[in-house]
Amino acid sequence: MGDPKTHPGPRIPVAVLGATGTVGQRFVRLLADHPWFRLEALAASERSAGQCYRDAVTWVQTQPLDDRVAQMTVRTCEQILEGRHELVFSALGGDVASEVEREFARRRLVVTNASAHRMDADVPLLVPEVNPDHLDLLVAPAAGARLPAGIVANPNCSTIGLVLALKPLADTIGIDRVSVVTMQAVSGAGLPGVSSYQILDNVIPWIPGEEEKLEIETGKILGRLEDARIDPAALAVSAQCNRVPVVDGHTLCVSVGLRAPAQLDEVREAWREFRAEPQALGLPSAPPQPTVYLGDDEPPQARLHRELGKGMAVTIGRLRECPVLDARFVALSHNTLRGAAGGAVLAAELVVARYGR
Ligand code: NAP
Repeated sequence: MGDPKTHPGPRIPVAVLGATGTVGQRFVRLLADHPWFRLEALAASERSAGQCYRDAVTWVQTQPLDDRVAQMTVRTCEQILEGRHELVFSALGGDVASEVEREFARRRLVVTNASAHRMDADVPLLVPEVNPDHLDLLVAPAAGARLPAGIVANPNCSTIGLVLALKPLADTIGIDRVSVVTMQAVSGAGLPGVSSYQILDNVIPWIPGEEEKLEIETGKILGRLEDARIDPAALAVSAQCNRVPVVDGHTLCVSVGLRAPAQLDEVREAWREFRAEPQALGLPSAPPQPTVYLGDDEPPQARLHRELGKGMAVTIGRLRECPVLDARFVALSHNTLRGAAGGAVLAAELVVARYGR
């Protein structure tokens, strides 16, 4: 294997499904000038199909839309199913994603943000720094193909921040109980999302389906791969999720029960030392430091810290003892970058580094 930082041969043609949505727009931004991938097709619903991307999309990104992509014609998923894209990123909603993604995955790799297939036995639920070995669930590429066919799923956006904060502790000290309270940004609800009248001057302490996802997905991600199946981690997770009037960035207040007595210094050290396969491989989207500990008196804040590591680092602070469990802290991660499109692009880079060279 050569140096993954260098160009891995010709850029791989890719498509984005759900390209006009909140996450789809992030994909478009990240892929417009990606060193390994060339964005060649965009798909959305029949409402958008046939229009050029500039007209179809309600662009909510702070960076301007790339000129080449702006002029691309949006298609339906069916229209690009027979295309030559070896890799498809999906930002479809769950209902639509279920069938469409399986159809695409018959002959190519689909990296998805949708929840439809996350718990399927043959689907790695991947956070590249946490469980890269779960990619072994994929079957090896067919003769003549650079990448394996199948689905790789990105976990729920809050779950990604949580497992990145937990992994260094799970590896060094061990954890058996987690209580997490989330404060989740409005961009997590997609477009058009919650109305301003509902969210301004308010906290909405219910996000349908979200608590269950945090509680179930965490065990699969931190689980062990054995005999081509995932044995979920023995870990009790209690989650309470709130929607708050923040644009991007999910904040998590976490308490953990540790398997062994530990000093808080060991916990801080575990986050500071944590590096994993994406960092070792120098993948283009990997942050140099995936978990950044700010300090005991420095809480992570969405507006100040969400862009750290280009939105791919999890920022942690306010570690202290917990009178109910053992330790508590606050973590923050960018929900549409690390929690969605950025995490999916990093996952695809890891697959390419493993198979596609
Ligand atoms: P969104 O803003 O509602 O976007 C949905 C996209 O799907 C749009 O491009 C829409 O196209 C397209 N679409 C809808 N119906 C379709 C159909 N029948 N055929 C083809 N395309 C169709 O949603 P989002 O927030 O970007 O989320 C996308 C997925 O990522 C969801 O599964 C969500 O759960 C997941 N996710 C989101 C976040 C986040 O922070 N937002 C984080 C992690 C995971 P039109 O514009 O043409 O309607």
